Amino acid sequence: MRLALQSAGLGGLNWVFAGRVRPCHLSKALFMPFTSLGLSPALLRAVSARAFLTPTAIQAAAIPAVLQGRDVLASAQTGSGKTAAFALPLLQLLQQAPTEKPRRVRLLVLVPTRELAAQVGEEIRSLGQHLPPALKVAIVFGGVSINPQMMNLRGGADIVVATPGRLLDLTEHNAVVLSGVAALVLDEADRLLDLGFADELSRILALLPTQRQNLFFSATFPPAVQALANQLLREPIHIDAPAEPEGEPDITQRAIAVDPGRRTQLLRHLITHHAWRRVLVFVATKHAAEIVADKLRKARIYAEPFHGELSQGKRTQVLADFKASRVKVVVATDVASRGIDIAQLPVVVNYDLPRSAQTYIHRIGRTGRASASGLAVSFVSADTEAHFRLIEKHQGVSLPLEQVEGFAPLQTAPNVAPSDSDAPSKGGIKGKRPSKKDKLRAAAAAAGDSQGD
Ligand code: AMP
Repeated sequence: MRLALQSAGLGGLNWVFAGRVRPCHLSKALFMPFTSLGLSPALLRAVSARAFLTPTAIQAAAIPAVLQGRDVLASAQTGSGKTAAFALPLLQLLQQAPTEKPRRVRLLVLVPTRELAAQVGEEIRSLGQHLPPALKVAIVFGGVSINPQMMNLRGGADIVVATPGRLLDLTEHNAVVLSGVAALVLDEADRLLDLGFADELSRILALLPTQRQNLFFSATFPPAVQALANQLLREPIHIDAPAEPEGEPDITQRAIAVDPGRRTQLLRHLITHHAWRRVLVFVATKHAAEIVADKLRKARIYAEPFHGELSQGKRTQVLADFKASRVKVVVATDVASRGIDIAQLPVVVNYDLPRSAQTYIHRIGRTGRASASGLAVSFVSADTEAHFRLIEKHQGVSLPLEQVEGFAPLQTAPNVAPSDSDAPSKGGIKGKRPSKKDKLRAAAAAAGDSQGD
């Protein structure tokens, strides 16, 4: 059912209908202090410098188990505190083992994207900064020159955080040797497989010693992911970070009906009318990211595109400018939907709807972090409404399709091709889904966006 609310703009709308979701689980283990988990003073110092007061649920469960040398199978989302959950105990185990010269890689963390590699690597560095002896963390990913990474690996590294493709390149250049790896972490295992890294993973696994500790983190467990977990893990402890109300993101979802060709105008209107100061806009393609950002800039709204065809340097710059409020709007492909932690991001806009409900969760989960409340707005046209209803159903929410005065849609019939779309729309629509092969190709292309091969 379409429930149209007329309004002079979103500010005048009744918020009663807005749905709330809890996409991530930064749930706390109540009353348990970090000091009870068996971590060394150097690690506790880093934890307190980061202002982590109490362990999250996944940290409380994983840290003691990992310290005992157990394998771990964790169902965890970005935002659950999973990085510290594996980094803290593994840093401690490394610290306790005698250091060798030259350094040998003893901890390998495999991640699906460049951004996640940088983020996870920095977090490990930060948590390990007070350790004696100092441990060297090398971060490697594709899309940038291999030479500085080879130089950095001279003299070895204790910890390597890597995307699979570039790691294999480096092993082929003999820049890194994996025969001394004592612990392996697969982070976002479902996404590693989604992005077509299965072959690379098998080749990397063949280079590792069979005796090692394995930690497996994934947000979802489709059969291929489960099979990989079964292959890797030995009597793992299972952790399912529960959703608890406390500390969870507070995200208000809204849906606005608009014709495809008027989305950029509506976006401009919302940004100026509500004085939104930092907005992440998701579009379906790199081309759309460029076009929408360009149009916003022409309207004097400082916007930048963010997608996989930009150099790594440019992407890092855009994110830094966004965080420093030098850029107000980032128009991104799904490169930015997972793994990136932008604190203080009040608004996310789905200019194009995501293909899947899972991606929707990851997209809107960019807002409402660090105890702030967030707003996720989706633009829905007659053509995409059925798809939006499926996404809603998956969330267990039902949102009214709101209308903003001056932007009431004219198109009503489903499957009417947008006549004057100002950016190509490729949001998935039921009945038009591509084959499995197409999807893998599209995922690889989108990840080309992001993956570090
Ligand atoms: P992650 O799920 O590892 O991506 O972590 C999500 C965010 O939570 C990161 O910004 C972490 O720095 C932060 N974080 C991790 N553990 C805690 C904790 N115990 N208390 C507060 N924040 C945390």
